[in-house]
Amino acid sequence: MVYLVGSGPGDPELLTVKAKRLLEEADVVLHDKLPGPEIIESIPEEKREDVGKRAGGEWTPQEYTNRRLVELAREGKTVVRLKGGDPFVFGRGGEEMEHLASEEIPFEIVPGITSAIAGPGTAGIPVTHRDHASSVSFVTGHEDPTKEESAVNWEALAATGGTIVVLMGVGKLPDYTAALRDAGMDPDTPVALVERATRPEMRVATGTLDTIVDVRDEEGIEPPAITVIGAVASTRERVVEFLRNRTGDAVEVADE
Ligand code: SAH
Repeated sequence: MVYLVGSGPGDPELLTVKAKRLLEEADVVLHDKLPGPEIIESIPEEKREDVGKRAGGEWTPQEYTNRRLVELAREGKTVVRLKGGDPFVFGRGGEEMEHLASEEIPFEIVPGITSAIAGPGTAGIPVTHRDHASSVSFVTGHEDPTKEESAVNWEALAATGGTIVVLMGVGKLPDYTAALRDAGMDPDTPVALVERATRPEMRVATGTLDTIVDVRDEEGIEPPAITVIGAVASTRERVVEFLRNRTGDAVEVADE
């Protein structure tokens, strides 16, 4: 049996009750780095197998992880495949599930709290708000460089007028903020970067479509981080004085 389990954004208290129980019951836990050190280190070392980045810096191929899941399940092990956030939000959970089914391995999906909603949320940014955003789009900022055309239609996203939440979007921030401006989005649109949400080192940096690249560089914001684009991003400044989430250094950049 294989459980595809979401770990939530990193705070161990944001594991679901079910995820916590399965981590205790599992014979083997296949994980990468995204669940974060607090959760990973709470799993006994002899049960853990890291299928994320290897010492040499290269990624464990997806085929290896797929094969390993099947192999362990066939040995009769209770296997947890632990994934940051929710397993089906940019987490390749879909591919792994399809592979398990094709190999006739029974599996269960255990949803997790996605960083796409919890990241902004714990920074005081609601992804929807009756006054500011009636829709929200979740997109990848990490384009496949082999693709000829952009996999994300930024022009269409700009036209929704809703919130845009970008995952894996630290590196390509200059590209897609430019694309949104070219598509006619107001350069003063509020933007927030939420780094390591819910972890002890969580940081939040805010700016606008025009300033956010400089803010990222000045503050040295690094992955994993969520980019929130839209009017809701400015909600934070109205509440931050009373917000008691575990943000270490909240970085605010005043617009002049
Ligand atoms: N399945 C995950 C997303 C995997 S893609 C989920 O549902 O959350 C990896 C991206 O997730 C990262 O590049 C980053 O954009 C985001 N991410 C995951 N955990 C995060 C965290 N604690 N803080 C900020 N961003 C996070």
